Amino acid sequence: MPEYTDFYRLRDELSEEEHRLREMVRAFVVQKYLPILAEHYEAGSFPLEIGRELGKLGLLGMKYEGYGCAGATSTDYGLVCEQLEWADSGLRSFMSVQTSLVIHPIHTWGSEEQKRRYIPKLASGELIGCYGLTEPDHGSDPGAMITRAVRDGGHYVLSGAKMWITNATIADLAVVWAKCDDTVAGFLVERGTPGFTTVETKGKLSLRASVTGELVFDECRIPAANRLPDAAGLRAPLSCLNEARFGICWGAMGAAAACYESALAYTRERTQFERPIASFQLTQEKLVWMLAEITAGQLLNLRLGRMKDAGRTQHWHVSLAKYKNVSAALEIARAARGLHGASGITLEYPPLRHAANLESVLTYEGTHEIHALVVGRQITGEDAFR
Ligand SMILES: Cc1cc2nc3c(=O)[nH]c(=O)nc-3n(C[C@H](O)[C@H](O)[C@H](O)COP(=O)(O)OP(=O)(O)OC[C@H]3O[C@@H](n4cnc5c(N)ncnc54)[C@H](O)[C@@H]3O)c2cc1C
Repeated sequence: MPEYTDFYRLRDELSEEEHRLREMVRAFVVQKYLPILAEHYEAGSFPLEIGRELGKLGLLGMKYEGYGCAGATSTDYGLVCEQLEWADSGLRSFMSVQTSLVIHPIHTWGSEEQKRRYIPKLASGELIGCYGLTEPDHGSDPGAMITRAVRDGGHYVLSGAKMWITNATIADLAVVWAKCDDTVAGFLVERGTPGFTTVETKGKLSLRASVTGELVFDECRIPAANRLPDAAGLRAPLSCLNEARFGICWGAMGAAAACYESALAYTRERTQFERPIASFQLTQEKLVWMLAEITAGQLLNLRLGRMKDAGRTQHWHVSLAKYKNVSAALEIARAARGLHGASGITLEYPPLRHAANLESVLTYEGTHEIHALVVGRQITGEDAFR
């Protein structure tokens, strides 16, 4: 099994259970996912059977209690995200959506009936979910959304469209956020509901081994019982994103480690001017810079995980880690690509695939700039959003 990049021996800070969980996920992606990844990346498809297997391993919805969820810690979840994204951001995205964006809102704001009906099947991977917040004209400012839900007897009538939605065309269930009576409300919409269609987004150059699409609601009538009863206002969807981006902070360092490990192995092997390219000072400086960024990101993640497990994180703590780790991972992936020379532009090596993926990761779950504004507001007391 490939070794972990762990320059400061953070392994010593993990419990035996945490270590074993990380090993289990690493073995899973190496044995089952990496062998088929390039084929899916080229085809622009997601291996759904692998997604469902995450459920069988008890990983989907793992940080929630009851309803078939494993009741793990946030640090456990972070470690899993790190290992999934070490393989590919598409697999971690699947995990993030199913766990933090679909199971989380149902578990947190759903009725008892909704929880019993959906969570066990989402946790086992029998049902696939997606999360519709972003709209064609409203991304960083979701509060301006125009999708509407209007009460009509025992139903709500949903009209509007959601765009850039992970798993859109493979999902059995969509968690959809819409304006309703001057607030934002969450709704559970099952595939097959009349007036609800999905369209796959083609031509993506990033996150290719993941499905992205549009959700279209044309006077779609859904039972009133499908509204999340306790989700009140924009804070609800924003708090789901905060849960997901916690995993992204870890995942980004997984991707960065994969790029660094590939660059280290390649530069030690490849010779030019009769010497391994790892022997050149310029190469070593790049490798050391990567390692320094990864080590800093790993320390940040572990501290964030421990704080979250102690109930002491605020959303700006997660914003700072997303801001720092994703941009660092993207720079590392680009630099690692360069160290592979021409070979670095192929799917045979991971850096360019990760770099392309990380362009999406930099944008979704709050863009790099939006997280700068979140932390900026926290430290200065000045709101620079408008
Ligand atoms: C592959 C992929 C998967 C996704 N999956 C999902 C999903 O499952 N569900 C979902 O709801 N959404 C999803 N998204 C959407 C994602 O959350 C949005 O793309 C993101 O919120 C940014 O919105 P936007 O693309 O409309 O960009 P915009 O908001 O239009 O931003 C464009 C640029 O302007 C900058 N900007 C915006 N406002 C400010 C400001 N006040 N100050 C400074 N700069 C600013 C941004 O930082 C960015 O650089 C996904 C996106 C991608 C790429």
